[in-house]
Amino acid sequence: MATPIQIYHALQSYYGSRDWWPAETPFEVVIGAILTQNTNWNNVETAITSLRQANTLTINAIMQLSQQELEQLIRPSGFFRQKAERLQLFCHYIQQHYQGCLDNFLEREMTLVRDELLTLKGVGPETADSILLYAGHHPSFVVDSYTMRLFKRLGVLTGTEKYPQVRALFMAQLPVDVQLYNEYHALIVNHCKEFCRKQPQCNNCPCADICLEPNRNIDKLP
Ligand code: SF4
Repeated sequence: MATPIQIYHALQSYYGSRDWWPAETPFEVVIGAILTQNTNWNNVETAITSLRQANTLTINAIMQLSQQELEQLIRPSGFFRQKAERLQLFCHYIQQHYQGCLDNFLEREMTLVRDELLTLKGVGPETADSILLYAGHHPSFVVDSYTMRLFKRLGVLTGTEKYPQVRALFMAQLPVDVQLYNEYHALIVNHCKEFCRKQPQCNNCPCADICLEPNRNIDKLP
């Protein structure tokens, strides 16, 4: 079985550098991390473009909007009522506890920030780790459904592990390296969209040589 670092190198040498996350500021990463829940990235980009055109990509501007105004701006991202509420709660929290300064919140010890993020409404482990890694530049490995799918097929996971175990496994086996975690998550997403889809396209897959299940048991794969 290939190790996580071997798999990283296989993906990296095939796809090259991904330069993810496509955001101009850390706060834009936070917005994207909340809006991307239960939708695809194209819808998030449309919503962020609306926010940009309305000049509302700051904590202060989001707080100034009524919830209805914010809902309309982010409507393309789906679940817009729930997400508008979560975004405004996040902004009010940073305003109340960190003088409205996201850096003051993020630039502290990673575990402290993570534990605090997880107390906020609508912020689960994947959203928290995305914010930590891509906005806060903390070495926190992001796990998503693509990670679960790919690494089960590659034999690294059994498919029964929960989020904390998977995150811990990667963080124990990889060097503590923000750039590597950043690239790795982006490569996993890229690979699962291109080859390792729900119905995998195993022909020409760059991981075929190290995969335990190329073209086998496809009907049983998640
Ligand atoms: S060989 Fe098939 S199942 Fe294995 S990683 Fe590639 S696409 Fe996924």
